[in-house]
Amino acid sequence: MNRADPTVAFERPRRRMLEAQLLPRGISDPRVLDAMLHVPRHMFVNAALASHAYQDSALPIGEGQTISQPYMVAKMSQLLELQGHERVLEIGTGCGYQTAVLSRLCRRVYSIERIASLSQRARRNLRAARHANVMLKCADGTLGWDEYAPFDAILAAAGGSAIPDAWVQQLRDGGMLIMPLGSTGAHELIRLRKRGNTLIEERFDSCSFVPLIAGAHS
Ligand code: SAH
Repeated sequence: MNRADPTVAFERPRRRMLEAQLLPRGISDPRVLDAMLHVPRHMFVNAALASHAYQDSALPIGEGQTISQPYMVAKMSQLLELQGHERVLEIGTGCGYQTAVLSRLCRRVYSIERIASLSQRARRNLRAARHANVMLKCADGTLGWDEYAPFDAILAAAGGSAIPDAWVQQLRDGGMLIMPLGSTGAHELIRLRKRGNTLIEERFDSCSFVPLIAGAHS
């Protein structure tokens, strides 16, 4: 093991995570599996939780928020069908783990988090784990990021009962949007494909995400 590089630690638990949690549940995109194998999830959680980082669950990241379960991160990433050239908007940076996975799958990730302390921690985590093709900002993500629109894909890591208009407007024609849709505690993972003025909707797993909250965080 290269001890100078902290990203190579926990390689065995990461491999086990793939074998026990991802492959049996239908994660098959080789690029997604490769990203899940290489992004050091333990570097995105509090040091006290590092040994739990690869377990089959969400974990607390402070401020009442959670890092999503590995399977859910992989599933959402796979549903975007990224090839590598895309510019992706992410809503809900949290600790930056999903951002890191996406950054290995596309050209650039633009990620918005409404809680400043989390956005700052994500910036440190992403730097430590050596992810450079990422832009972060602390703001209300329901407004999207107009300056860099249109996006090839949008991923929301917080659940809401409606799709914000700004996201649909800022999505490129032919692009895809993934989000947990529904009421708190009872979301469904949905994928929307934009075709001109219409949106084609598909529904996937039932899930439970932290809520998408519009407006500034005090
Ligand atoms: N993918 C993240 C998961 C974070 S949980 C990770 O890997 O850690 C979802 C995040 O969405 C929370 O941090 C929450 O603060 C944030 N969030 C909720 N509403 C938001 C909004 N309107 N704009 C930006 N971020 C929001």
